[in-house]
Amino acid sequence: MKLNRRSALKALAIGGATVAGVKAAKASNGHPPNEKLVAMLYDTTLCIGCKACVVACSEANGLAPDSQESHGMYQMPRYLNDKTKNIIKLYSDPKTGLRSFVKAQCMHCIDPACVAGCPMAALRKDEKGVVYWDGTTCIGCRYCQIACPFNIPKFEWNKVNPKIVKCEFCNHRLAQGKIPACCEVCPRKAVIYGTRDEMLKEARKRIGANPGRYFQDHVYGEFEAGGTQVLYLTHLDPKLLGHLVPLDDESLPARVEGVQNTLYMGFLTPVIAYGAVASILAKRWKEHEKEVEEHEKETGLKEQL
Ligand code: SF4
Ligand code: SF4
Ligand code: SF4
Repeated sequence: MKLNRRSALKALAIGGATVAGVKAAKASNGHPPNEKLVAMLYDTTLCIGCKACVVACSEANGLAPDSQESHGMYQMPRYLNDKTKNIIKLYSDPKTGLRSFVKAQCMHCIDPACVAGCPMAALRKDEKGVVYWDGTTCIGCRYCQIACPFNIPKFEWNKVNPKIVKCEFCNHRLAQGKIPACCEVCPRKAVIYGTRDEMLKEARKRIGANPGRYFQDHVYGEFEAGGTQVLYLTHLDPKLLGHLVPLDDESLPARVEGVQNTLYMGFLTPVIAYGAVASILAKRWKEHEKEVEEHEKETGLKEQL
């Protein structure tokens, strides 16, 4: 049976969502080989916070002007939201006073929790590893939001037929042989595009050529959450930088599978198991938000210019 939004809602009503959830979670386990994965590398030492990427993202994706929390000014959003898929924020290290801009968007996880957590397979990963939303089966349960360890997907609360909004790697541009709009416009090449292999090589090259420039010579996203396709070189500790929270190398879907197999001997459905693991993540995010608030109080600096 072909799933559409109406039949998906009907299936949920008769309790079919759990069965679909099992299928969706299992389908998410395979991913394309590393050299075929598209990727971005963002380098905090090159970004000047001009926000050209924010405007280009909005234009390329046909998003409505975002004037929320910005006293009517265009493109001054404080957070990712249903009109903003890409944002630049400013953070500082309270100990050294050093500051850093940080670009935030979907990380395009190699083993994405949003895909595995969606009971209706409305979040999917294509052959290039791009994680995208298919509205035809979405029932608006927002499991993807709860499951995401980076707190990325947003929901159109004020729409009758709401969408899940997040960066989809400009997949419409990739299909035309173009590169993501944010990478195309960046005047400093602070965010660049290539395969994941190429981006990792470039990151290691920069680390090798600039001893001491990057925090612990670390490429954030190489392993975190099972690896992501957006990679970061940062001069500050990533844990001070918003969504770059400290995460285990094991992906959330792998952890859920571990919980099922070890504690529940496979009897627990992925959807229920997600509830358990997501509550751990929600607690971690609350702690993280508290840290950010304290950091803002200490430094007197808001997250964004
Ligand atoms: S960052 Fe969140 S929304 Fe993006 S792919 Fe990973 S789990 Fe999904
Ligand atoms: S890849 Fe496209 S959608 Fe994603 S942040 Fe860049 S411009 Fe925005
Ligand atoms: S366009 Fe480049 S330099 Fe400007 S804010 Fe975006 S990433 Fe930074």
